[in-house]
Amino acid sequence: MCVVTYHAANLYIKKLVELGFKVAIAEQLEAPNGKTLINRDVVRVITSGTVIDDAMLNADSNNFVCSIYETDNDSVVYAAWADIMTGEFYVAQFDNYDNAVSRIRPKEVITKKHFSYAFVYKQAVQTVKKYFNINTTQIFDIPENSPLINAAGALLEYLLMTAKNKLSNITKIMLVRDENFMVLDKIARDTLEIVSSYRNNTKAGSLLAALDKTETPMGARLLADWVTAPLKNVTMITERQDAIQELFDNSISCQALRAILDKFNDLGRFCGKVANGNVNPKDIINFTETLSLIQEVKDFIVQNCHALLLARLAGQLDALMELRTLLLNAIKPEPSTVLSDGGYIKEGYNQTLDELRNVGTLGKQWLLALETKERTETGVEKLKIAYNRVTGYYLEFPMNALKQMPYRFIRKGSTLNTERYTTDELREIESKILNASGEAIKLEQTIFGEIIAAVQKYIPTIQQNAAAIANIDVLSNLAYLAYKNQWVRPEINTAGTLLLESARHPVLENVLPTNEFIANDCNLDSENTTMLITGPNMAGKSTYMKTVALNVIMAHLGSFVPCNRANVSLTDRVFTRIGASDDMMTGKSTFMVEMNEVSNIVHNATKDSLLLLDEIGRGTGTNDGYALAKAILTYIIEQIGSKTLCATHFHELIELGHNYSQVQNYKVLTSSINGQIVFLHKVVKGEEQNSFGAEVAQLSGLPELIIQNAKKIMKERESHENH
Ligand code: ADP
Ligand code: MG
Repeated sequence: MCVVTYHAANLYIKKLVELGFKVAIAEQLEAPNGKTLINRDVVRVITSGTVIDDAMLNADSNNFVCSIYETDNDSVVYAAWADIMTGEFYVAQFDNYDNAVSRIRPKEVITKKHFSYAFVYKQAVQTVKKYFNINTTQIFDIPENSPLINAAGALLEYLLMTAKNKLSNITKIMLVRDENFMVLDKIARDTLEIVSSYRNNTKAGSLLAALDKTETPMGARLLADWVTAPLKNVTMITERQDAIQELFDNSISCQALRAILDKFNDLGRFCGKVANGNVNPKDIINFTETLSLIQEVKDFIVQNCHALLLARLAGQLDALMELRTLLLNAIKPEPSTVLSDGGYIKEGYNQTLDELRNVGTLGKQWLLALETKERTETGVEKLKIAYNRVTGYYLEFPMNALKQMPYRFIRKGSTLNTERYTTDELREIESKILNASGEAIKLEQTIFGEIIAAVQKYIPTIQQNAAAIANIDVLSNLAYLAYKNQWVRPEINTAGTLLLESARHPVLENVLPTNEFIANDCNLDSENTTMLITGPNMAGKSTYMKTVALNVIMAHLGSFVPCNRANVSLTDRVFTRIGASDDMMTGKSTFMVEMNEVSNIVHNATKDSLLLLDEIGRGTGTNDGYALAKAILTYIIEQIGSKTLCATHFHELIELGHNYSQVQNYKVLTSSINGQIVFLHKVVKGEEQNSFGAEVAQLSGLPELIIQNAKKIMKERESHENH
C-alpha cells in the first residue's frame, strides 16, 4: 500500500499496471470534518484490461479484457470480452484458446484458474441476469444453459469487482455468430501479418496499417475488428461493397464526408467517461459539438448517398437535439475544466445559482462602499480594502497614518509598510461573500452531477451513434484507399472460382517505389484447385502466396482489392504453413511444429478453404521430407479439394502437376545477366528444375572460391545421379 499525491497518481498507476500489477484505488468517501475519522474504501481496482485513463489507452485499439471458459468435454472454448470504456461486450465460441486470443487481442485474460467460482453456471447466469435486469438470456439470442453464459457471467463479475459498479455503459451482450465470419487462426493472422508485422510485432507493416486511413478512433478500432474477422456472408460483403462503391464513384463526396469525420472526438470512449463520472465541463461542450457533427454526417448521407448500408447507418444516427439543447443551455461555451473551481454553469440556468453568484457581485459593491465610507470617516485617503487567500478580506492602513485609526479596528497582521485590520462590518460582508461563493461552487457541482446523470440516460443512443460513425468511417476509408491505390471491386462467387488479375501485395505495393512491385495473376477454380510453385530462393514465391491470401481476405472484409480484376470465391478459412523461422521461441522442433500445423490444416480444411503451404517437408531429411510433402498434398488434392498454393523446393513434386488435372505447375521467372541471377518476380506456368542455390548464394558476397567449388560439386552429384 502506498500514498501518492493525487496529481501524480496516474503516472504511478500506469507504471504499475504496465508491469502487470493490479492497483486498488482507495479514496476518502466523505469530506474531512476535523473531528472523527473519515470513511475510506477501495473505489476501483485498475488492471491492464480495465484501464480508464486516456493517457494509458491507445486510441486505435480496443482495450479488451476477456474471459475464456474451457470445459473438459468440449472441443471448443467460450469467450466473453469487453471494453469498459466503449461499453462493448461480446461473446463467441472459438476453436481453441490461442485462436480466441489472437482474434480478440485482449490486454488481460481471466480463466477458471484465477476465478473459478464465477465461472460456475449457476453463479454466472445469476450475475448476468441481475446486472442486465433480465429473466432470460434469450434476450441476447443466447440460449439458456449456453456455456457462453459461464464466460459472460465470470467476466461481468470481474468487471463489477474491479470497476465497483461504474459500468453503466455496458448495456447489452452482443453475440458474435461464427457462421458469418471467415476463420483465421492465430497462425494465419500472424504469418499474414494481419494486425501486426512479424518482425517487430507492431502495427506498422501490417495489413491493418496499410488499410488504416480512418479519421476517427472509433473507425480505427472497428477496422481492426474487420481485418481480424473477415466476413463469410455474401449479403453482408455485398452490402459493404455497395457502400464503398458509391463513395468510390463520387470521390469528392467521399472526401467531404471524411472531412467531417476528421472533426470527431472519441465518442465511443466518451460513454465510458460518463459512466465513470470522469468527464469535465469541457468534455461536455466537446460532446455537444460532436452531436452537431452527427447531424452533419446524417444530413450529408441522406442528401448524397443511396447505398443500403449507408442509408441504414445514417438512420442509426441520432443527434440528440433535446440533450444538446439542454447541455448548451447549462454549460458555458468556454468552461473551466476543474469541477471544484466552479465557473462552468451558465447564467440563467439555475436561479439559486444566479442569486448566490449575485452575492459575489453585490459583495464587490458593498466592499467599495465600505472603503469609501472608512476613508471619509478616518480621513485617510490611502486606506483600502484588499483580499488574499491567507488573511481573507482586510483593511490596509498606512503606517504613517496610524494615529488616525479608530478604536473599532481589529488588528489582523502587518507587513513592512502597512498594518492590516478588520471591522465587524467587514467581517460580515466577508462571510456573506465567502459563503455565497462556496455555496455557488457546491451548487454548480450538484448541477453538473445532474447533467451527467441526464447524459447517462442516453448512453445506449450515444453508443449506437459511435458504432454507426465507426462503420461510416471505415467504409469511407476503404473507398478512399480504393480510389487512391486504384483497387477494384471484387466479384464474390460461391462456385469456387478464384481469379485475380495483376494482383499486388497491399503492403508491399506502397513500400516499394512505384511500379516496382510486380503484379501476378491467380487462376483457380473447382477443377483447378492447386498451384505448385517452384523457383529459387528469393524469387518471390512466399510473397506471391501472401499476395493471393491478402487479396482474398480483403475481399472478405468488403474492401476493394489491389488487382486489375478479381473474382473471389467465398472462403471459409485461410490456412497458412509458412516459414521455418518462428519456432525457436517455443522450444519445439521446427519439424514437429510444421507437422502440428499441417495436421490442423488437413483436419479442418474444406473445399472452400484457401491453403498456403510454403516449403512443407523442409524440416526433415530430403527423402522423408519429400515423401511427406507428396503424401500430404495428395491427401489434400484427393480428399479435401481446398484451393492450395504450394511453394516447394522439391522439384520432384512437379509430377503431381502431371498426374492430377487439378494441379498446375508454376514457376517464378528468373533470368541471368553476365552470369548473375536476376529475379523477375513473375509467376508463370512451367517448372523450375534448378534451385540456383549457388547463384543466389553468390549475391550474398560469399567468396568466389566457395561458389565455384559448390557448382563443381553439384555437377559431380548430378552426373552421378544420372548414371
Ligand atoms: P521466396 O519465397 O521465393 O524465397 P520471397 O517471396 O521471400 O521469395 O521474396 C523475396 C524478396 O523479393 C521479397 O522480400 C521482395 O522484396 C521481393 N519480391 C518478391 N515478390 C515480388 C514482386 N512480385 N515484386 C517485387 N518484388 C518482389
Ligand atoms: Mg519463401
